[in-house]
Amino acid sequence: MRIADIQENIDHELISHEQIMSKIEEVAAQASKDYEGRVPIVMAVLKGAVCTLTAFTQAMTCHLEMDFMSISSYGKSMSSSGSITVRQDLTSDVKGRDVLIVEDIIDSGYTLDWLVKELKRRGAASVEIFALLEKPARRMVEVDVKYKGFEIPDEFVVGFGLDCDEQYRNLDCIAVLKPEVYEGALT
Ligand code: 5GP
Repeated sequence: MRIADIQENIDHELISHEQIMSKIEEVAAQASKDYEGRVPIVMAVLKGAVCTLTAFTQAMTCHLEMDFMSISSYGKSMSSSGSITVRQDLTSDVKGRDVLIVEDIIDSGYTLDWLVKELKRRGAASVEIFALLEKPARRMVEVDVKYKGFEIPDEFVVGFGLDCDEQYRNLDCIAVLKPEVYEGALT
């Protein structure tokens, strides 16, 4: 879905499809060098990071495995509680493995802080993060992000995997909805 298809719901485009793809390719080139000769587990937190994981892994030039985890998400509320529940676990045993987490957006940082500690607790040899988007203004806990995408202002964004009430994930860019659209979805 392109922005022109839903123009009436969009306030403004923040990051174009071309900008996203070129950033992902740049990061994938760096990560491919870093992981050369190793086979990392590249994992996404469902569902938001799936679009980024797909584009990122296709741009990587080394062998890798993919895995997925589903943990507590925003649902219809717009703030992270800091308490995490695993809804669907990884299928891989991460013990002794290099894990690269692909994340759609870091907001408070609670999700990734928990996930990094959990993967280390399970014995991962290394844990690194690629975050497509970061909202520095809302950070509550420090998270060490090795591969960085874009820093964005404190606005609720959709697209490239990110939803509003489960819709807009298939938008090919990152955009801000008109306030009446997301306020309507959250009531
Ligand atoms: P954190 O634990 O860092 O506060 O939350 C990260 C998660 O919050 C993301 O994976 C995403 O699901 C959700 N999130 C944070 N900001 C936004 C946003 O602007 N738009 C959408 N759609 N989800 C967001």
